Amino acid sequence: MSSPSPASLAIGLDQHGATLPTTSTLISTIADLRAGHSDSRNALVLLAASLGNAAEIADVHGAHALEMVTAEVARRALQFDDLRVRLLRASPLGGFLAAVVVERDHVQARVDDLLTGLRRLVSLSHDLVWPVVTVGAAVCDSDDEVWAVVRDVRAAVVAAGRESPGATRWHVEAAALGVTDELTRVRDLAEAITVDPQQLDLHFQPVHDLAGGHVVGAEALLRWTHPLRGAVSPVLTVEAAERTGLIVPLGRLVLGRALAQAAAWRDQVRPGFRMHVNVSPLELREPSYVDHVEAALARSGVAPSSLLLEITETAALTDEPAARETLLALRRLGVGIGIDDFGTGYSTIAHLHRLPIDTVKIDRSLISGVAREASGFELVRSVLDLVSTLGVTIVAEGIETAVEAAHLRSMGCQQGQGYHLGRPVPAAEFLGCPTVRSA
Ligand code: C2E
Ligand code: MG
Ligand code: MG
Repeated sequence: MSSPSPASLAIGLDQHGATLPTTSTLISTIADLRAGHSDSRNALVLLAASLGNAAEIADVHGAHALEMVTAEVARRALQFDDLRVRLLRASPLGGFLAAVVVERDHVQARVDDLLTGLRRLVSLSHDLVWPVVTVGAAVCDSDDEVWAVVRDVRAAVVAAGRESPGATRWHVEAAALGVTDELTRVRDLAEAITVDPQQLDLHFQPVHDLAGGHVVGAEALLRWTHPLRGAVSPVLTVEAAERTGLIVPLGRLVLGRALAQAAAWRDQVRPGFRMHVNVSPLELREPSYVDHVEAALARSGVAPSSLLLEITETAALTDEPAARETLLALRRLGVGIGIDDFGTGYSTIAHLHRLPIDTVKIDRSLISGVAREASGFELVRSVLDLVSTLGVTIVAEGIETAVEAAHLRSMGCQQGQGYHLGRPVPAAEFLGCPTVRSA
């Protein structure tokens, strides 16, 4: 079987879209390649390649340019040694699957050579494009395991694309397992949100006024209890939701419940009590987000000033005019905006000056150094000095000891949150804290 010429590949992509071989053609192509080099010194490697910047190429140069770039990268693979490389499948959306025969003793080195040849600038008629070629690779030792190995290299390319676009990742069992786990988690989360929302709950962690010692707010924190697997980490849950679009319905559920709770507590907490709700940057990008917040506030009867939306440092700082516009609209509604996890991202005070925020939460990673060594103490003091120039309320996160709380108080930090002051608890336990209730 001969390899397709560059022209025929480009035409194939143009005319037929993704060329999907049947199981039998794929296996027979691989068997054919193996037969030509049947030698114990050779190994057959499957490669799944994906253009990490396919969307950008299509946006800037058009769909046809993306096909051209894909075809050119695939052509370079064939050029490596067209007797030993077969293109098994190509997609006009910027990916292909190939098989290559290489010496068993130098598998990784030979595949690296091949891939180095792919990662070169591609010229279009009026421009040059850098193809971000992300690759998943695995050795396929027998024709019986072709489909399993195809699945493995796909899993590897997905993992590489997520963690290090433009890199090569060799399949290891764990990579495939991770993807299976991820698929299961996403399916189960979708089920929890849409069919069985009882699995999802909020815990509330008190936010204290450090000088007076009383509670001035609560942070609503998502808790997912899977019927079989038990508690699932909120960080993993939110990450999975962000990767799949589930963050929008999940965020709505959280905001609705947090506001319902704030309404239920209204007469028992002190005036000025604020409910802190975490918001993902992807929610902010929804064009209807501000309307949704306004409607949720109206439904609950909670005053906008009793809600603080927490946005992570990185999210707020993606200089997107649309995100800034959304924040301004939320401020106009009267809702508070807080920067969460300050000190973990790349923001500068100058950046924060441009954002319509009224609260900054200093991350636990900084706070935990305050009582450990002099340099940690000085660092927190400098950060507090800088942030105080913004004229915002400062909250120290993750206060775990009385000594940390005392240091922060002495530095003039207004509010604090952390295990020392109160752990996140179910709603029913929250009012039990003696410093919560209004006098
Ligand atoms: P975060 O918003 O910074 O929330 C604070 C996290 O620190 C919470 O972890 C809390 O339980 C933990 N924490 C509080 N005090 C202490 C302490 O003294 N020591 C230590 N070691 N940890 C402390 P949790 O509940 O696991 O949540 C983790 C992150 O998940 C949150 O960080 C937030 O970024 C995200 N998250 C939680 N719920 C939601 C949600 O409803 N929506 C979104 N978008 N993100 C959420
Ligand atoms: Mg938070
Ligand atoms: Mg935080």
